[in-house]
Amino acid sequence: MSAVASPLAYKAGEYHPFRAGENEFIYLVPTGGIFEMTPAAAMALKHVQNRSRTADEMARELAAAGFPQALIDEVLADLIDSRLLVSPDRQPSFHQPLPANFPLQSMVLNLTNQCNLSCKYCYEYGEDKLATPEGKPKFMAWETARDSVDYFFRDSGGRESLHITFFGGETLMNFPLLKKIVDYAIGKAVSEGRFIDFSLTTNATLLTPAIIDFLAENRIGVTVSIDGPPEMNKLRVFANGRPSYDIIAPKIKMLLERHKTRPVAARVTLTAEVTDCIGIFRHLTEDIGFNEIGFAPVTSAPNRLHSVGATKMDRILDQFCQLADEYLAYAIDNRPHAFSNVSETVAELHQGVNKSHPCGAGLGLVGVGPSGDISPCHRFVDSDTHKLGHVSTGIDRALQADFLSRGHIQAKYDCHTCWARPLCAGGCHHEAFVRYGDTGHPNLHYCDWIRAWTNKCLEVYGSISVKNPSFLQHFDRRKEQ
Ligand code: SF4
Ligand code: SF4
Repeated sequence: MSAVASPLAYKAGEYHPFRAGENEFIYLVPTGGIFEMTPAAAMALKHVQNRSRTADEMARELAAAGFPQALIDEVLADLIDSRLLVSPDRQPSFHQPLPANFPLQSMVLNLTNQCNLSCKYCYEYGEDKLATPEGKPKFMAWETARDSVDYFFRDSGGRESLHITFFGGETLMNFPLLKKIVDYAIGKAVSEGRFIDFSLTTNATLLTPAIIDFLAENRIGVTVSIDGPPEMNKLRVFANGRPSYDIIAPKIKMLLERHKTRPVAARVTLTAEVTDCIGIFRHLTEDIGFNEIGFAPVTSAPNRLHSVGATKMDRILDQFCQLADEYLAYAIDNRPHAFSNVSETVAELHQGVNKSHPCGAGLGLVGVGPSGDISPCHRFVDSDTHKLGHVSTGIDRALQADFLSRGHIQAKYDCHTCWARPLCAGGCHHEAFVRYGDTGHPNLHYCDWIRAWTNKCLEVYGSISVKNPSFLQHFDRRKEQ
């Protein structure tokens, strides 16, 4: 039946409009889809802004404006199909039942909870510490590591492609174990006809040519924690207060020279003291040579040391937007740009991501501590109150279901009217716990910031789709990988 012949009344569905240059777009909230507005579609939506109308009424208004009948039929059918026109009785549904057995895709192995640095903002120290490591091993033993890999393969069901991230403490303080795990997991993957790859996060202090060559030979992705040039890296110090920059800078350059099989990324922690994103970005790309930089602000409670307050978050947003504009100019020119905060969000927009949970924690991803305890992700490792099981016995499905049901978008009523929820879904469970004492609480302290940043990324995505659509194929490939 033609949409035009339908007697049903329609109202506008839930959407967020945005512009990219001369073009108007719509971000469709219930599905995470993005559509470029045609003049006829824009007019139809305008007509249902304040009251519902039947398709016949809309068709007549469009015909009076001079649009041909065939186009009107097509546009109205498209708007109804894509849920931009919906019945006035239709309420948004937040119910997305979880699959009974969601196979694991990624595991984070905390090889040690020890670190040779004492970074002043580290969540392992201070009031936000969740870990209860007392009486547990400081370094993961081989038997625990082997059981972890066996558990991971068992609980990853039929997945063909698996990923292990090595984490700490300082990961490389347990490098001999890392090597053994890589060999064991590759052998297991080959025998089962599956694919596995690896990544690690390190503070770079312990890198040597032999370690780097092992990482390169095994195509292990590396993320280096570094906050910029010496004056901005000042919170990353040894226990005696000695700065780490002069030790790590030559090692990172060696890493970038010798390790070419996978991207080497920098992860920058922004604090109240360090918010010069552009200066840091220039230093890490031009002086050091990173080709991927991601920023993460410390946004724990405002009374916590080093937490970035609202004014500085605005300053960070301004700089993110400048770097996003630069990213767009590069994309139009078919050149890669290192700012991964924008590339990761654009990738999610391109893939139509529509999240029931903010991240994979406790779902397709788990963290495993040196004791073999399973937790939702690396940030909850070693915390008795967030333990979901043990690698010897597997995950406790009741604990997992409780964690996931509290973190589901359905349970976050404040988010139900927010257009940014397909990507945000309430924000990090760990941050929610340290802020509000509940992993399922939405992170309501920076919603305006999230919406402004998501809108900027939508504008970048829309502009690329108009000016150089083939650039977006890069994100198809990332999805396949
Ligand atoms: S936490 Fe805030 S920004 Fe995120 S989905 Fe909820 S209301 Fe929106
Ligand atoms: S809970 Fe937070 S830290 Fe853990 S994986 Fe999710 S977003 Fe990352």
